[in-house]
Amino acid sequence: MIQDELPAYVYDLGALDGHAAAVRAALPGIELYYAVKANPDPELLRVLARHVDGFEVSSGGELAHVRGLFPGAAVALGGPGKTDAELSADVTRLHLESPNELRRLLASGRRADVLLRVNLDVPVAGASLTMGGGATPFGMDPAGIAECVALLSGQSAVRLRGVHAHLASGLAAPALLELAAAVLEYARELGVTEINLGGGMAVSYADPDARFDWRSYGEGLAGLRRPGEVLRIEPGRALSVYCGRYVTRVIDVKRVHGELFAVVAGGTHHLRTPATKGHSQPLAALPPGEPVTIVGQLCTPKDVLAHRVPVRLAPGDVVEFTMAGAYAWNISHHDFLMHPEPGFRYLSPELAGRES
Ligand SMILES: *Cc1c(COP(=O)(O)O)cnc(C)c1O
Repeated sequence: MIQDELPAYVYDLGALDGHAAAVRAALPGIELYYAVKANPDPELLRVLARHVDGFEVSSGGELAHVRGLFPGAAVALGGPGKTDAELSADVTRLHLESPNELRRLLASGRRADVLLRVNLDVPVAGASLTMGGGATPFGMDPAGIAECVALLSGQSAVRLRGVHAHLASGLAAPALLELAAAVLEYARELGVTEINLGGGMAVSYADPDARFDWRSYGEGLAGLRRPGEVLRIEPGRALSVYCGRYVTRVIDVKRVHGELFAVVAGGTHHLRTPATKGHSQPLAALPPGEPVTIVGQLCTPKDVLAHRVPVRLAPGDVVEFTMAGAYAWNISHHDFLMHPEPGFRYLSPELAGRES
């Protein structure tokens, strides 16, 4: 790596290809969509497209992006606060978030295949983010769903295909299977057979080698599924996070009131994840040393990429942050301080263009 070309995001498309193939193989009979908001990089999407059944998008912007790359792909459009244009988009599935969205859709007179996003009152323990199991702006409680079911009767333009639930993120397989069982029970009471169980599979920034147990999750889902039911999941982070690295170099090392700091090129305007999630971004191996806090170039104390990590760093050293393939570049505040953007490199680029 030429140091002047840093910072850069480096995406290992070969690793992504292998990981996505393994996830796919662990989920026989389950539909797999990729949640594009985790990372919409076109090269990553081209690799993922070879393994997934479709894409979950959360805006008209993501929809246009995916349509531009894969005109014929199955796409589910969700997200709270849809505009009229989003509600009338031509998609495989529309995930409705409120009775008012359904009223607007019905008033438009257009045809649509919909899933109703349900927020069940089930306990969600151990999650890093919760979108359900209590009062949140996402989806509908059972009363809202009942309101929708009543609105849907006596018309045929909007077809109720099933329910969608994305209740939490950061859950291990046993907890996600418990939620799945609750959602399936609810769907069966409602009398629908298509169930989208969402994403949210755990990844651990504290323990980068720990992986979500796709095999037991797949086996668990296979055990829960009844004949005639379509089960779909839409992971984002757990699919793409491992294939990305944010590579930069140390500009300065200094001691202030006894604490050691290494200032690297770039910062949280390129990789916001450690600042928002409050973790130290994991690092590729470096020689051991006195605990050092790795910060970026921004004039804010929040620009911390890793806190007191026991590694030895000197000006000019290259630092590689791992687990930067999801909610990293695309979730960051790029324009703050107007530093240059990072470069983007792809290992095994031929994979993105390969025929499946
Ligand atoms: C963000 C999101 C996902 C993906 O979540 P991950 O934690 O990245 O797996 C899936 N479905 C919906 C509705 C989402 O909002």
